[in-house]
Amino acid sequence: MTVEQIHRDAENDTIERRRYLEVLHRFTMSQAELTDLDDICWYIAKTAIGDLGFEDCVVYLLNEGGDTLIQRAAHGPKNPERREILDPIEIPIGEGIVGSVAKTGRYEVIHDARDDQRYITDDQFRCSELAVPIVCNKRVIGVLDSEHEAVGFYSDEDIQLFTTIAALAATRIDTALALERLELQAVALQEAREAANAASAAKSQFLAAMSHDMRTPLTAIIGFAELLDSADVDDRQRADWSRRIVKNSEYMKEMVGNVLDMAAIESGQVQVKVTPFNPHEWLSDTLDLVAPRARDKGLVLRSTVDDQLPPVIEADASKLREILINLLSNAIKYTEAGEVHLSARFESSDSGDRLTLVVEDTGLGIEAESLQQVFEPFTRVHDVEQFSTIEGTGLGLTVVKSFADAMGGKVDVESTVGKGSRFTLRIPCRAAHDRVADESGGSAIASENSVLRGRRLLVCEDSETVQALIGFVLERAGATVETALNGGEGLHKFLAAKQSSRPFDAVITDMQMPVMTGYELAASIRQHDQMPILALTAYAQEEDEKRCLAAGCTAYQTKPIDTETFAITVTRLFSGDTAS
Ligand code: ADP
Repeated sequence: MTVEQIHRDAENDTIERRRYLEVLHRFTMSQAELTDLDDICWYIAKTAIGDLGFEDCVVYLLNEGGDTLIQRAAHGPKNPERREILDPIEIPIGEGIVGSVAKTGRYEVIHDARDDQRYITDDQFRCSELAVPIVCNKRVIGVLDSEHEAVGFYSDEDIQLFTTIAALAATRIDTALALERLELQAVALQEAREAANAASAAKSQFLAAMSHDMRTPLTAIIGFAELLDSADVDDRQRADWSRRIVKNSEYMKEMVGNVLDMAAIESGQVQVKVTPFNPHEWLSDTLDLVAPRARDKGLVLRSTVDDQLPPVIEADASKLREILINLLSNAIKYTEAGEVHLSARFESSDSGDRLTLVVEDTGLGIEAESLQQVFEPFTRVHDVEQFSTIEGTGLGLTVVKSFADAMGGKVDVESTVGKGSRFTLRIPCRAAHDRVADESGGSAIASENSVLRGRRLLVCEDSETVQALIGFVLERAGATVETALNGGEGLHKFLAAKQSSRPFDAVITDMQMPVMTGYELAASIRQHDQMPILALTAYAQEEDEKRCLAAGCTAYQTKPIDTETFAITVTRLFSGDTAS
């Protein structure tokens, strides 16, 4: 080596060194002003292209779980200007060259990727690749990666510069990452807090609405019931007040029904019970239930039933009834003038039979943007202040939708503000060709026909009022009734009667009672006797039915009882047909 050569090499070294120092100086000065993670990453990529003369540069950062590298910035032919990465590349730790660098924490330079099996082609094959780890506090937090189409493109200086840039940026990236994750956590926390607040506000609103809604019919019930006793009442008034008491009680029963249904829905206990029934009778009974309300508001209540509707279908009649009552009640509630129209259609196709019920009204209508909200629990979409006389809890349609879902059906709504709304329910169900069990039949006759004549019944119930009511209904149907205020007294009377010559024919018992519960009473009776036992409970859930049957009861009836059909329910105890 000549003296000149040594000189020239030294001179080259000095130029190289100066360039090296300049690049790092510029990089350090400029990045000092950056705090945003994207700015920092983008600046690294730009430096690699502008100062190092690379063709492309990608910054990968480790995800929070620490198992995947995610592309955070890229500068190169694919992304020359725009900073945002639309579809960030993700590389699992250990995979490809970038993944290996993240795993080992040591840089890799590939001079000819054709010789390296780990090379992953992204958009196009390139021979050279340089990947250096970004290490902070001895932890790999990301990888800088660059590729070039020429073989052996990256020099030792390139490697040194790239590695130094990674080292200079590491702490800033780590801090920015931590900040970003903190901000995300804060946002998530805030969102969770808002959701919790909204849920609790909805619940308080619901409780307030519920107590208001309960108070209104209760005031009417108590008030009119007290008036009934006064001396100067004529028959017409008495009949009118009785009707009001019944109407308000029915409204309360419906509300409580919805709340219980909601509880079942929330605890995932909705179960579908399919039975054969006569849909024609079912429709007219359901319409009868809401007809007085329509009449009171001067609305026309119409129905159209398709000829194709078979005499017997198989579906969950009780859930269907709740759905239809909710839809009809709403249509009546939210309509001031005009009509409410129910139509029923039945279609058979290869995919099965389907019942479609449409409830249309000429009422207030619903704004387009609120249409889907109406099915949310506790949600009322009209201005509650403006329409303060319309009572509601915002649960009816939630029950409708949950029941429709449970039955494999669907409910849809269309509406025009000021014109009216149309709710359409489509439910898969089967046309049945066998005869229906006589479900309704004798309700009104029950009282007159003395269907329980000659039966000796023991009624155990801790509420004297309910005891008196049940006693009256059963005696009206011809039975002889004895009562007990709890299970203990009930068991005593049962045993005494069994030893005498006149045992009871059946026991009707409340389940929640002091001293001895209905469950205990039923179990004790079963040790001596197989007589029918009818369980009465306020809990209208499937679980409770199972519990009653497990305790030895023959059948199950929820409260409040229907005074019209209760005697029939009791006669079924003797026929072995225990459907409640
Ligand atoms: P609510 O107890 O308030 O009636 P729902 O869940 O049954 O609760 O209905 C939710 C909301 O949807 C109602 O508060 C009302 O704003 C709106 N809505 C329901 N049915 C109708 C209808 N037929 N016409 C207009 N608005 C309706």
